[in-house]
Amino acid sequence: MAKIFCIANQKGGVGKTTTSVNLAAGLAKIGQRVLLVDLDPQGNATMGSGVDKRQLALSVYDVLLESSSIKEAAVPAEQCGYHVLGANRELAGAEVELVALEHRERRLKAALAEVDQDYDFVLIDCPPSLSMLTLNGLCSAHGVIVPMQCEYFALEGLTDLVNTIKQVHANLNRDLQIIGLLRVMFDPRITLQSQVSAQLKDHFGDKVFDTVIPRNVRLAEAPSYGLPGVVFDPVAKGSQAFVDFAREMVQRIQRM
Ligand code: ADP
Ligand code: MG
Repeated sequence: MAKIFCIANQKGGVGKTTTSVNLAAGLAKIGQRVLLVDLDPQGNATMGSGVDKRQLALSVYDVLLESSSIKEAAVPAEQCGYHVLGANRELAGAEVELVALEHRERRLKAALAEVDQDYDFVLIDCPPSLSMLTLNGLCSAHGVIVPMQCEYFALEGLTDLVNTIKQVHANLNRDLQIIGLLRVMFDPRITLQSQVSAQLKDHFGDKVFDTVIPRNVRLAEAPSYGLPGVVFDPVAKGSQAFVDFAREMVQRIQRM
C-alpha cells in the first residue's frame, strides 16, 4: 500500500519543489517505488525531473477531470528512477472546471486508489496557495511535509496552513496529519537561523525532522539541467542530506 504525502507550504519559494524532486530521487535511490505528482500549474517538479511539460500527452489535469487514469498519464523520469504525473499551464484551468463537479476535492484521491499497489511512496508537490488543487492533495494524503526556512517570519506563515490541515482533518480526511517540518536552505553561519532552528525543535519536538537540508548551490543549479540535485550531483552536501531525509522518511512510515 502506497504512503501518500503532500509537500505543502502556502508561501512560494520556500523549497517545496526542491524537496519534492529530491526526496523522490532519494527514495528511488534506496529502492523505493515512487510516484511524484505535480499539482502546481508552473510544472517545475515536472521539468525538474527531466520531463518536458510542453510535450505531455496527458497530465494531472486529465486525471482530475477524469478523462485519464494515472496509469495512462504517469511517465517515467528516465534518469531519476521514479514516475511523474506531470503538470503544465492547463492545470490552472482545472480550478474553475472542478467547481461545478461532484466530489471535486476527492478526484485525485479516487485516481490514486487505482495505483495503490504500484508504489511505496506518492509525493504531491503542491502549489503555493490553499486552492482546490491543494485541497485535492490534502484529501489524498496520509500526511504533510512542510519545508521551511529558519527565518523570523517562518512560524507566522505556518498558522494558515496548520488551520487548513485541521479543517481538512476534521471534515474531509481523518488520516491527515503533519508528518513534519523540514528545515531547508539552512545556513549554520547565520546566528538567527540556528536560533529559529532551536526554537522549532523546542516548540514542535518530534514534528521537526532530524535531517536538515543545507543551503547548497548544486541543489539550485540542478533544475536547469532537468534533474534533481540527488541525480545531478550525488556527492553534493545538499544531495546527501536529501538521501538522509529519504531514509528518515522510510523509518517514519514504519511507525505510522
Ligand atoms: P517552491 O517550490 O516552494 O516555490 P523551490 O523549491 O522552487 O520553492 O525553491 C525556490 C528557489 O530556492 C529555487 O531557485 C531553488 O533552486 C532554490 N533552493 C531550494 N532549496 C535550496 C537549497 N537547499 N539550497 C540552495 N537553493 C535552494
Ligand atoms: Mg514549487
